[in-house]
Amino acid sequence: MKMKQDECRTTFPQFPESYWLASTDVPNFPKLNEDIQVDVAIVGAGITGITTAYLLSKKGLHVAVVDAGRILHGTTGHTTAKITAQHDLIYSEFLSHFGKEKTRLYYEANRDALEFIRQTVEEYHIDCQFTEEDAYVYTCADTHVEKINDEYKAYKELGIPGSYVEQTPLPFSTKAAIMMENQAQFNPIPFLRYLANQVIRQGGKIYEQTTVVGVDKGTPSIINTSDGHKITCNYVVSSSHFPFNDPNSLYFARLHAERSYVLAVKTDKTYPGGMYISAETPKRSLRSVLINGEPMVIVGGEGHKTGQGICTFQYYEALEKFAEQTFGLKEIVYRWSAQDLYSLDKLPYIGQELSDVSNILVATGYRKWGMTTSVAAALLNTNLITREESPYQDLFSPSRFHMDPDIKTFVTQNANVAKHLIAGKLDISYKKAEELEHDEGSVIRVNGKRAGAYRDPQGALHLVDTTCTHMGCEVEWNEAERTWDCPCHGSRFSYQGEVIEGPAKKALGKVENSYE
Ligand SMILES: Cc1cc2nc3c(=O)[nH]c(=O)nc-3n(C[C@H](O)[C@H](O)[C@H](O)COP(=O)(O)OP(=O)(O)OC[C@H]3O[C@@H](n4cnc5c(N)ncnc54)[C@H](O)[C@@H]3O)c2cc1C
Repeated sequence: MKMKQDECRTTFPQFPESYWLASTDVPNFPKLNEDIQVDVAIVGAGITGITTAYLLSKKGLHVAVVDAGRILHGTTGHTTAKITAQHDLIYSEFLSHFGKEKTRLYYEANRDALEFIRQTVEEYHIDCQFTEEDAYVYTCADTHVEKINDEYKAYKELGIPGSYVEQTPLPFSTKAAIMMENQAQFNPIPFLRYLANQVIRQGGKIYEQTTVVGVDKGTPSIINTSDGHKITCNYVVSSSHFPFNDPNSLYFARLHAERSYVLAVKTDKTYPGGMYISAETPKRSLRSVLINGEPMVIVGGEGHKTGQGICTFQYYEALEKFAEQTFGLKEIVYRWSAQDLYSLDKLPYIGQELSDVSNILVATGYRKWGMTTSVAAALLNTNLITREESPYQDLFSPSRFHMDPDIKTFVTQNANVAKHLIAGKLDISYKKAEELEHDEGSVIRVNGKRAGAYRDPQGALHLVDTTCTHMGCEVEWNEAERTWDCPCHGSRFSYQGEVIEGPAKKALGKVENSYE
C-alpha cells in the first residue's frame, strides 16, 4: 500500500553519499570533442566497462571508454562490494531450471571472477581494503529452513565448498544458514581506479560527460554522441548498465530495475566478521568496513522496484532500526542507495546483443551481484572480441530463451509495467504547489495536468513534466534522493529533470511555473 506523500518523512540526518566514492579520489577525464577511430568503443565506465577496457587494452587493442557522467559514479560507486559466488539462494533454483552443467558453469564463472580480482589485487599490490571473508545466507524464519537445506544439497551436488550451520557468528539466533568459504570484500573504487589508470598507460582513452545516443550498425560501426561526435570502431561494448542501444533487443521488456539502501554505521558491539544476507525479505545484508581506520558495519537491504517504493526514507529507517537492535547504533556515518537490473531468468545477458550482429556486445542484468558477474562479463566479452573460446558464451547469451522461467517472468513484469503506465495517468494528486515546504517534492496539478514539483531548500519551485522520456510512464517522487524515478523501466531524473540514469536519454520536459 503506497503511503500518501504528506505521511512521508522528508529529512534524514545525512545527505546520500557513498563511502566508496567519498574516500577515493577518482581522476577526471575529458569530454569527447572530436570524431575518433578505435578498435573497440566501450559505452559506460562502471566496473563492467573499466574491467573490459583494462583486459582489451592489455591485449594491445586500441579502446575508448565513454561515460555520460563521471566514471565509476553509477551503481558501481554505490554497491556494498561483496565479492562472492554466493548470490543469495540461487543454485537450487538454477539446478531445477537449467540443469547441472549450466548451473556449475554459473558458479565457475563467478568463482573465476573472484579469483581474477584476488590475483589482480595481489599482483599489483592494490590498496583497496580487500579481505577474505566467509559468506552466509541465513534465515530466522521456519518457512525458509527447507530452502537453505535445498541450497546446501545443491552445493553438494555441484561440489561447491560450503557448509550448513544453524547458528552464524552474528549476535542473534538464526534457524539455519549456508556458508561459502573464502569469499571476499573490498572497496571497488581504488581497485577500479588502478585499472582505469592502466587503461591509459596501455594506450586507451577514457571520456567523461559524453552521452552515447545511438549506434549505426555495420563493419565498422559508428557510435553517435549527443554532442554530434562519432566513434568509428570494429566492436562496440554496451556496458551502460541499462543497454544504451535497445531498438530490436527489447531490453525494456526483459529487464527491470530494483533499488536498495545502504547505511555505514558505528556500532556498540564488535562485528564478528563475515558477510551475510537474509534468505527472507525484507533483505538484510551485512559486511564490515574500515572508515578512517575505525571498524564499522555496512547494513543494506529493503529492495523494491525503482519508482514503486513507499516513502523512501522509510527504507533507511528500517535499516537504522535493524542496526540498532543487532549491534547497538552509535552513529550513521554514510547512507546511499542504488539500483541494479534483473533479467527474466536471473542469468545476466552477456555477449552478442543480437544473434545476427557479431560486433555489438552487451553486459547487463547482474541482479545485485555485479562485482563478480561484471568481471565474468568483461572476461567473456574480451574472449568474444579476441576470438578465444569461452565455456560461458551460450550460458549468458542475450539471445537465449527458456520457456520457464522467461515466459512467466515476462508476463508478470510487463503486466506490472502496464499497470504503472495506466495507474500513473489516473493518479489523482492532492498537494498544491503552495503547500510544499522547503526541500519537499510531490506530484501536483498545473492547469489540470500532472506535473512534478520540488521546492528546494532556498524556496525556489522546480516544475517538470512527469512523463518519462523513455516510454511514457509517469515518474514518481523519491524524497530520500530528491529524484524523479520511473516505475516502469527504472530511469531516474534530477529534480530539474536531467537524466541521472537510463534507459531514458532525454531530460524530462519543463513545465511553465505559473505559481511564482
Ligand atoms: C545497493 C546495491 C548493493 C550491491 N551490492 C553488491 C554486492 O555486495 N556484491 C555484488 O557483487 N554486487 C552488488 N551490487 C551490484 C553491483 O554493484 C552492480 O551490478 C554493478 O556495480 C553494475 O556495474 P555496471 O558497470 O554494469 O554499471 P554502472 O556502474 O551503473 O556503470 C554504467 C555506466 O554507464 C554510464 N552510461 C549509462 N548510459 C550511458 C550512455 N547512453 N552513454 C554513455 N554512458 C552511459 C553510466 O553513467 C554509468 O557510469 C549491488 C547493487 C546495489 C544496487
